[in-house]
Order: sequence, then C-alpha cells, then structure tokens
Amino acid sequence: MDYINQVIQSVKDKNPNEHEYIQAVSEVLLSLAPAIEKDQDLYKKNGILERLVEPDRCISFRVCWVDDSGKPQVNRGYRVQFNNAIGPYKGGLRFHPSVNLSVIKFLAFEQTFKNSLTTLPMGGGKGGADFDPRGKSDGEIMRFCQAFMTELYRHIGPDIDVPAGDIGVSQREVGYMFGQYKRIRGAYENGVLTGKHLSFGGSFIRPEATGYGAVYFLEQVLNHFNQNIKGLTFALSGFGNVAWGSAKKIIELGGKVVTLSGQDGYIYFENGLSKEGAEDIILARQKGLTKQEFADKFGGVFYKNQQPWGKVKADVYMPCATQNEIDLEQAIKAVQLGVKFVNEGANMPTTNQAIDYFKDHGVIVCPAKAANAGGVAVSGLEMSQNSQRLSWTKEEVDNKLKDIMRGIYNQLIDAANEFGIGYDLCKAANLAGFKKVSTAMIMQGIY
Ligand code: NDP
Repeated sequence: MDYINQVIQSVKDKNPNEHEYIQAVSEVLLSLAPAIEKDQDLYKKNGILERLVEPDRCISFRVCWVDDSGKPQVNRGYRVQFNNAIGPYKGGLRFHPSVNLSVIKFLAFEQTFKNSLTTLPMGGGKGGADFDPRGKSDGEIMRFCQAFMTELYRHIGPDIDVPAGDIGVSQREVGYMFGQYKRIRGAYENGVLTGKHLSFGGSFIRPEATGYGAVYFLEQVLNHFNQNIKGLTFALSGFGNVAWGSAKKIIELGGKVVTLSGQDGYIYFENGLSKEGAEDIILARQKGLTKQEFADKFGGVFYKNQQPWGKVKADVYMPCATQNEIDLEQAIKAVQLGVKFVNEGANMPTTNQAIDYFKDHGVIVCPAKAANAGGVAVSGLEMSQNSQRLSWTKEEVDNKLKDIMRGIYNQLIDAANEFGIGYDLCKAANLAGFKKVSTAMIMQGIY
C-alpha cells in the first residue's frame, strides 16, 4: 500500500487542481492493492504505477472559428494520448463547456483500462473542447468541427490515434470532422475516426452500442443473481446517445424505464416510457424538442432543475449523462428507496464515496469501465471493417457485441477469483484491465 499511496500523493502534488483526474486515479490505484502486493518488486522495478498515471502526452490548442454574426470565437481544444501499450490511442471527443484538462485526463486514463477489457487492440486517449453546442446553428457546428480538426489532424491517424464521439459529438460532428481530415490529408483514411455514418464506413449498431452493451453487461450480472431485465424498473439519466440505446434495449427486454434527464431537469414516466418514446429520443433532440415537450408527448412529468437520484424509486439506477452525478447524499437516499443495482452508462458518474456506500449496503455497482465498454468495442469493430474494406451486417455486429460484453464480465469474474475480492465488480474491472496493460508495458521496456 505504501507504493500505491506514494504514487497517489505524487499525482495530487503534481496536479493539485485536477480533481476529476485525482478522483479517477485514486479509485483505480487503491483497488490494485491485491495485484501490487503479489508482485510489488516487479511493478516497482518497472515503475509501472508512476508510468501509468503520467499520460504519454497532453495536447492543448486554440480553436478559432467565426459565428453566424461574423464574430470570431475562440475555444480551447484538447487531445490526451494516455497510453498506447496495447494499440493506437482510442477514445472519444467531448464538446461541452465543462471540458478542461482534468476532465479529459480522467476520461483518457479510464479509457486505457476499458479498452483493454474489450480484448481489442486499442490504447487509451480522449479529447474535446470547451465548446457548447447548445443553441448553435448547423453552420456554426460545421465551422467549429472544421477548425477543431484543422489542428487535431496532425496528431491522429488510423494507426496512431482514432477519436470518436462523446458528449456533444455524434454522427453529424464526426462527419464534419472526417470531411475536414480528408481534405487536409488528401487521402481517404476512414479508419481515422469512428462513429461515422453508414454511408462512409460507419458500423451498424455503433450509435446504439454503448447503451445496448451496458444492458447486455447487466444481463450477465442479473443472471448471477438468478434475475433478468423483465419486470425491473430503471431510472436513467441523460437524453442522449447512451440513454437512448439503453432505454431501447431495456424496453425490448421487458424492463420499465421510469426516468430520463437532461441538464435542465428530469422526466418521470409513472407507467414507463413507451417503445416509441425511447425510439424518439435522438430525433426529439435533433428537432430541438424541450424536455417539457417530450414529457407532454409521451405521458411524463417534467421536474425542472432536479435529478432523479435519491428521489425516484427503481430497482436499477443507470446514470447515462456525465461524471459525478450521484454523490454520497443521493446514494444514502437511493439505498433507503431500495435500489439494488447501479449500472454506469456514463463515465465515472458515481463519486468514490457513493460507490463505497452502495457496496457497503449490498448494492451491486457495475463500473463504467466494463458496463459502457460496448461503445468503444463497436468502434473497434468499425476500425476492423474499415481496415478490411468490408461492412458486417447488423446481426453480425450485435452478436459480436454480445460476445464482447460476456467476455468482459467473465474477465471480471476471473480477476475477482484470482485476487480473492468477492463479487466486487469495480475492483475486478480495474485489476483485469491493469493486468493486461501492465504486462504489455513491462514487455515493451521502460520508455
Ligand atoms: P450526449 O451528448 O449524447 O448526451 C449527454 C446527455 O447528458 C444529454 O442529455 C445532456 O443533457 C446530459 N448532460 C450533459 N452534461 C450534463 C450535466 N453536467 N448534468 C446533467 N446532465 C448532463 O452524450 P452521450 O450519451 O454520448 O454520453 C453520455 C455519457 O456516456 C458520458 O459520460 C460519456 O462519456 C459516456 N459514454 C459515451 C459513449 C458513447 O459511445 N457516446 C461511450 C462510453 C461512455 P441535455 O439533454 O440537457 O443536453
């Protein structure tokens, strides 16, 4: 533990203002104790923990674009290339005003472990900008994406670093960025970005993959407890890509979705969101429907400026919006309301204190690194299809996604057994991811 605590302290000393990054590093490193204690000399000799917490590089750049009124606007763009021990850097781009270096570093750090769990050859990276897409015209979004790629292109490539979407970045933005990359490079390298439209190298199931994958992962967990999705109630946050895929799959499998949410509040569906409502989420967003309008259309009640956590009774809490959505206070109330599972669709949506409280009170937490890995897994499959210049069918991709999610669950169970940690899926995900990445790092020598 001394070695782990020393490294955590050095991260705090070097990055005192990076709260999200310190949170992610502390959660992972503290859970690695069983592996470190087993082979302390090897890990120390190779400086593994010290190297794991220092990104390969952090790139920050100016993104200058012109708004519809002709006024120049300046945003800050980032790409953190964290670790490429097992493959090219891979991870999404986030456009949101809360983006800063700490947020991108925590996401890239987590991505390194997540990508390793998929068993596909992908390292960890993440990027984005403090750009707020809300209220921007299509022309402004396009000019921003072009300006962003005009700087980013020099750092990425199909065998170097392969970005994708995240909050505020979906097929439309990926399309604009790919168009700019193609023009600058003068070559058709469509494996440089994933999350593309089907018409130019996108994969079936990629838009739904994160949500579908999270539900497939939960099915494995429920199976362990002789339960299934049918008849369970789900409180979801988010009104975007991940919430959409999750809601569609939950409803298809007979579960009841009682909430969705956005930055401005949550919608409660007493009788459950309908199949049509779930299908409509993305379209509603594109059309600019407000949460109130969506609630009215699909029989829900909108609670302005509130989040569902600790307020709504459900068997499963599924945060699918952003980091640190569920804190200790909400976790305490959630336990009182009888929540049984927390399935993390978003990245780091639960604070470390809330995770500990859930675990201490018998709530099973399915960690983001495993539960939401389906998105990047299908991105990996998109890369494979682009390399082969082939396109697999919907069924083929969906079956591969199911296999991958089952494989991730089995890796967690194997790690839990190997290190004697009981049914702690959070620790197991970190230990399983660490084992593979650290092995590759040791074999490639110190650099
Ligand atoms: P989207 O942009 O499609 O949707 C994000 C949703 O979260 C929106 O409904 C938005 O609200 C809400 N939201 C954003 N910020 C906040 C906030 N500060 N407080 C409350 N709600 C907020 O993003 P995705 O669905 O793609 O991503 C959601 C989460 O899933 C993120 O944590 C992301 O990192 C993670 N993830 C995404 C993957 C993917 O494939 N897209 C893969 C793996 C993880 P509003 O509707 O008001 O804008």
